[in-house]
Formats: sequence, structure tokens, C-alpha cells
Amino acid sequence: MSDAPEKRGKPTTVLIVVDPSGSAERLEAELGEAARVLRDGGTVAFPTETVYGLGGNALDRRAVARIFAAKGRPQDNPLIVHIADMGALESIASSVLPGARALADRFWPGPLTLILPKSDAIPDEVTAGLDSVAVRMPSHPVAAALIRAAGVPVAAPSANISGRPSPTSAEHVWHDMAGRIDMLVDGGSADIGVESTVIDMTCSPPMILRPGGITLEEIREVIPETVVLTGGEGLDGPAKSPGLRHRHYSPEAQMWLVIGEWDAQVDEIKSRAAAEVRLGRRVGLLVSTETAAKLCTWIRDCGGEGPVGEIIVAEIGSRNDASQVASGLFDGMRRLDAAEVDMMLAESYDARGMGLAIMNRLMRAAGGRIIRVQGEAGNDLISEKSIE
Ligand code: AMP
Ligand code: MG
Repeated sequence: MSDAPEKRGKPTTVLIVVDPSGSAERLEAELGEAARVLRDGGTVAFPTETVYGLGGNALDRRAVARIFAAKGRPQDNPLIVHIADMGALESIASSVLPGARALADRFWPGPLTLILPKSDAIPDEVTAGLDSVAVRMPSHPVAAALIRAAGVPVAAPSANISGRPSPTSAEHVWHDMAGRIDMLVDGGSADIGVESTVIDMTCSPPMILRPGGITLEEIREVIPETVVLTGGEGLDGPAKSPGLRHRHYSPEAQMWLVIGEWDAQVDEIKSRAAAEVRLGRRVGLLVSTETAAKLCTWIRDCGGEGPVGEIIVAEIGSRNDASQVASGLFDGMRRLDAAEVDMMLAESYDARGMGLAIMNRLMRAAGGRIIRVQGEAGNDLISEKSIE
């Protein structure tokens, strides 16, 4: 197992299954082999509380190169370094300013990534040549035990082929990565379902570069002046968040996002889906439980003249519970892709709280294919720019 797949005749990925509810000691023991693979420069996918990560030793350039190769990740998109204890932070960041310390005290371990000035220990490959580094301490027991057992900081982007929806289960990782990585640790599904919040602490005031598992509102309880990166600064020139330059979270079928009042959204989804079905196409609907309930009788009766396609529904959770929607979002996109739909129509959500991260992922998955209907989907606190 110590050799990377490309060194061996036939690439294989070892799958191990662990019970995340086991004790920390037991988990560390079960993860001994995975930890050894990491120390030896291999690649290991593992669950975190946000999505599955693809880990490699952050201090080993070759291991980092293997992560980029396995994902097909553009070299200019830096990785997040994962740690298991506060002590490790000192060796990764050259300085930890008071604001960063306060956020870490409040939200670590958890889905918050801090951008800090980089220490010399971190190779340039990890940070894509930037003089800052992204650090996070995950709370998932399997992630924590693996990093502790490895005894090295672990660079880990999401364990998907670059550009695709992030993986929230071991099955998703296997689908994208089997044969490309050394090992996959199946520790059940990732609860939160969207990635960590990335906040740049090297500027004043701190700036959220990517909304995620910790909300803007929660961060403002600690640092009230926190701002959110708006618009497409990443499209040219040096980007604040290099990840913004790239295609992201995209299902294989083109997705259209409907924005506006809920009733108007449902009407729009109906009429667009009906038009596609009349053309004989398979239409995927990425919708809430409530919308699915509203559509179910209509879908049964949908059809009519001419060739008739099909409607496939992926229900992703209640509109009244953003954490359910976040948790089901990427899985819903992947299920519709697996059903080989020709196109997808997605409902939109209020952009407050976790809704900001959800809308950010939906906007990016839609890649500009937005259908505006009457009324506002979000709220007046957050401009549409901040979710793009
Ligand atoms: P991923 O791990 O694929 O979910 O993405 C990590 C995100 O963190 C990407 O959007 C990166 O561009 C961003 N990131 C990582 N390191 C830095 C950094 N030093 N400065 C700004 N953004 C970063
Ligand atoms: Mg990613």
C-alpha cells in the first residue's frame, strides 16, 4: 500500500470501513494503515463533517502533487491544510493574529477555514505559490483520528474529480476516485454536506471568500465587521479566492436555477419541465420536499401530445430547514446525473444563514443559467453578488 497507484502495475484503491461512533483510541487503531499510507506519501480519502476530503501529507511535495493529479485539479487552486490540535497551527502559519485566534477558539474543531500568513514549512505546491495558507481543524471523529494517527498536517481538497459536485458519501468518492487514489476510508456520510467557510484573516476587516458550514451571522458574533467577497474578482488578475476562477460543483447535465418567490418558482419549474418533456427529454428536478409534494400529482398527469420524456425528482430536504437542504444538495445532483437526465431544474432558497452557502453552490453549479421569476428569493441583507 505504500506505493502510489501509478507505481504499481494495476491501479487499485483499498477500501476500509470504520464506525465513526467508536472511541477515539479504537478509531486511531483502526486507521493505523491509512495513517501509514499518508506518512509514506500516499493519498487517502476520508470523511469530514463537511464533505469527503482527499488527503496527503501537507509537508510532502510528491504527496501534494498526487492529490492534484488524482482530482485533475488546476495547479493554481490551493489546498486546505487540516490539523488535529492547536499546537500544529504554529508550524503552519507564521503568525496567528488575535481575530484568527478568537475564531479558532469559537469554531474549531469545525467547518471554518482560516487564511493566514504561511510558514516556510508548507511547500509552495500546497498554497499555489501564495504567501498565505488555508488551515482548518475538522470535527469529524474519523478525520480527527486519522490526522492524529498520521502525525502530520494533512492537505485535503474535496475528494471528487475537479469541477464535479463534492462527495458527501463513500459511494460518491468511489464513483469518482476508484483506481486514482491509494485508499478510501468509509466512515458514513458527511453530515453538513457543503464545504467549510473560508475566511481571509490577512486583510482587515476579515473577508469570507467562500460561504460554508459556519454562517456569516455566526462569524459576525465574534468579528462584527466581517465582510463577504462579492462578484467575480477571481475571473482575472490575482484572485482573492483562487477557487473562484474555476468551474465548480457542476453536475454532468446542465442545471438551471430558478430564483424568485416560491409559488412563482414552482409554476416556472412546471412549465419548463413540461416543455422539455414534450420534446422527449429526461428532466431532473432538484427540489425541496415541499416542492416535490406540490408537483407530485402534476407529474403523474404530465405528458400530452408528441414524444413524451420523463421527470425524475431528487428531493433534498425541507425548505424550512437549510441544514437538510445543504446535506442533500450534492447527493441530489449526483442522483440526477446517475439517472442520466438531459437537464436539471433547481429550486432556490433564502440566502440567510446556511442558505448563503447553499445558494453559492447552486449559482456556481448553474454557471450563469439563471431563470428569474417574480419576487425575491433571498433577503435585502445579502446581495445576489455575494452568492455568486
Ligand atoms: P476545496 O478544498 O476544493 O473545497 O477548496 C478550498 C478553497 O480554499 C478553494 O476555494 C481555494 O481557492 C481556497 N483557498 C485555499 N488556500 C487559499 C489561500 N491561501 N488564499 C485564498 N484562498 C485559498
Ligand atoms: Mg472542492
